[in-house]
Amino acid sequence: MLYLALALLIFALFFFRKSATQRKEAGLPGGRIIYTDTHGWGKVEKPLFYTALELTGKPDYLIQQKGTIIPVEVKSGRAPEAPYDSHIYQLAAYCLLVEKTYHTRPPYGIIHYENRDFAVDYTRELENALIDLLVEMKRDEHKRNIPRSHEQPGRCAKCGYRKICDQRLA
Ligand code: SF4
Repeated sequence: MLYLALALLIFALFFFRKSATQRKEAGLPGGRIIYTDTHGWGKVEKPLFYTALELTGKPDYLIQQKGTIIPVEVKSGRAPEAPYDSHIYQLAAYCLLVEKTYHTRPPYGIIHYENRDFAVDYTRELENALIDLLVEMKRDEHKRNIPRSHEQPGRCAKCGYRKICDQRLA
C-alpha cells in the first residue's frame, strides 16, 4: 500500500489554498507558549503508520506523561509569533498517528523551536481539518499545477523545495 509520507504532507501544505480566515473557521488552535523539561523526552526510532488514511510519519520525540503520550516536533530556527499552519498540521498528523498506534489520544502536541515551545491542543476541530486536508491532498495527488497558497517571500526563502519550485517568490 502507498503511504502518504509527511514530507508530502508538508509539501502540499505550501500549496494549501484555504485562506487564513477559512483556517480559523476550521478551528485551528494557535498554540500557547509552554516551558518544558527535555529530560523526559524519548527519541522515536521508527515511523508510525495509520493505514486507513495511508499516513506515516515519525515525531522527533514522545513524552510519556500521566498515562498520555505527547508528540514533539523539533524545528530549527527561532520561533515565529505563532506556529505556522504547516507546523500545526504536521504536529496534528503526529497526534493522530500516536492515537491510532498507542490507543491513547494526546490532549496536545509540542512544537519545539530554538527559543520557545508551543503547545498545540489536539482538538476535534483540528483533527477534522487535518483529515479534510489529507483527503484533499489525496484527490490532488496527480495534479501538476497546484497554485501557491501564499504571498510570503520569506517562506519561500526558507523552503526546502525552493530550487525545484517554479512558483517561488524568493
Ligand atoms: S518555494 Fe515557496 S511557493 Fe514553492 S513550495 Fe516553497 S514555499 Fe511554496
